[in-house]
Amino acid sequence: MSPGKLIFKIEEYISTHTRELLSVKDHKKLSRLLFKSDIPLSSHLHQFKIDPSEYLTGVQCPFCSQYAMERYSGTWNCTVYGHTAKDAHFQAVDDYLILISDTITNRQFREFLHLHSPKLATKLMANMNLNCEGTSRKSCFYTQH
Ligand SMILES: [Zn+2]
Repeated sequence: MSPGKLIFKIEEYISTHTRELLSVKDHKKLSRLLFKSDIPLSSHLHQFKIDPSEYLTGVQCPFCSQYAMERYSGTWNCTVYGHTAKDAHFQAVDDYLILISDTITNRQFREFLHLHSPKLATKLMANMNLNCEGTSRKSCFYTQH
């Protein structure tokens, strides 16, 4: 696809999606499209700076793609079809670290994954090989490096 055509496609996409929530998946698709193109990223990426509040949050079911997983009994349970997946949050955290910020705090983790318990968040993050950068456990910024 020529750069001109691509820009047109992207603009068309944005104009038809402005009122909808852009899912992380859509955003990823868009980013991938841009990375594959020859267009200087810096000149266009700002268009995709989307406020974190506009993302669909929550944990996506790996089986039916609904953002409807709830954590209980030590696993993620799909509230639509009853699927279960132990590590369904990995994808959500990956998306967060790629698209929103390269660090994530306990509070951001809970907000993004719709968790209430800071303790559970700490436990889940501890199992994800995220490193803590910060002066205390409370002010941890977790990164993947
Ligand atoms: Zn499901």
